[in-house]
Amino acid sequence: MEIFRAPRVTLIARPQFLEPAHLAVQWKGTGSDGERLAEYAGRICYMSQANPAGRSTAEYLENIKKQGHGSVLEHAVYVLLIEGISRSCSHELVRHRAGFGYSQLSQRYVDESNAAFVMPPAIVGDAALEAEWEQQVSAAQAAYVHAVERLMERYGWVADRIHRRKLAREAARSVLPNATEVKIVVSANTRAWRTMLELRTGEGAELEIRRMAVDALRVLRDEAPAFFADFETYRAEDGHDAARATYHKV
Ligand SMILES: Cc1cc2nc3c(=O)[nH]c(=O)nc-3n(C[C@H](O)[C@H](O)[C@H](O)COP(=O)(O)OP(=O)(O)OC[C@H]3O[C@@H](n4cnc5c(N)ncnc54)[C@H](O)[C@@H]3O)c2cc1C
Repeated sequence: MEIFRAPRVTLIARPQFLEPAHLAVQWKGTGSDGERLAEYAGRICYMSQANPAGRSTAEYLENIKKQGHGSVLEHAVYVLLIEGISRSCSHELVRHRAGFGYSQLSQRYVDESNAAFVMPPAIVGDAALEAEWEQQVSAAQAAYVHAVERLMERYGWVADRIHRRKLAREAARSVLPNATEVKIVVSANTRAWRTMLELRTGEGAELEIRRMAVDALRVLRDEAPAFFADFETYRAEDGHDAARATYHKV
C-alpha cells in the first residue's frame, strides 16, 4: 500500500506573453512572461508604456498589490498538478471557485483497489498512531475490493462491461476513507491563487491543506516572485509551516 506523507506539487503550465511591437513597454529589470503580461495589462490602463516612473517589473507589481488593483493579475494563469492529497483535502480545495478550474481523478472510472492513501500531518511521526491508521485504511481498501466483486456479480446482467464496472466502482467507493489519495489539475489566475493561498496557508487552515498550500506557494513564488514575494513563510508554534501575506485579498 502506497502512503503519502507529503503532497507533490508540479507546475505544468505558465503564461506565454507575446508583446505587440506597435505598443511596446520600456521594461526595467527582469520578469517572467506572466509577470510582464500583468504589468503590460496594468500599463494599458494609463497608457504608461514609456515607464515614466522607471519602475522594474517587481516594483510595478508591488505597487499593484499595494493599491489593490488585483484585476490585472487575473491575466496570468498558472496550472499545477497536485498529487498526494486526500479526498478530504481536495474537497476543501475545490471550494475556491472564482478564477479556478479543476480536473480530478474519478473514483467512478478509476479502479481504487490499489489506491494510495494520505497520512494526515497530525499522525505522521507517531509510530503507534501511524500503525493503527495503516491498519484502518488497509481494512477499508479490502472492503472496497470485496464490494466491487459483489457488485460486479449483482450487475452481471449489464452487458456492457465498462458500464458494469462503473456501477460497481461508484457504489463501492462509498467505503473508501477520506484519506484516499487523489490527483488533481488546478488552473487559476494569479489573483485567485493569492486569495486561496492566503486562506489556506494560514494557521487557521486544516493541517493537510495548509501543507499543500505552503508547497504550492513555494512553487508559484519560484516561478513568479513578483506576484508572491510578499508572502512570508514561517514555522508556526504548532511545529508546521504556515505563511502570511502582506497584501490582503488584492
Ligand atoms: C479556516 C477555514 C475554515 C473553513 N471552514 C468551513 C466550514 O466549516 N464549512 C464550510 O462549508 N466551509 C468552510 N470553509 C470554506 C469557506 O467557507 C470557503 O468556501 C472557502 O474558503 C472558499 O472561499 P471563497 O468563497 O472566498 O473563495 P472563492 O469561491 O474562490 O471566491 C473568492 C472571492 O470571490 C467572491 N465571490 C465568489 N463567489 C461569490 C458569490 N457567489 N457571490 C459574491 N461574491 C463571491 C468573494 O469575495 C470571495 O471571497 C473554511 C475555509 C477556511 C479557510
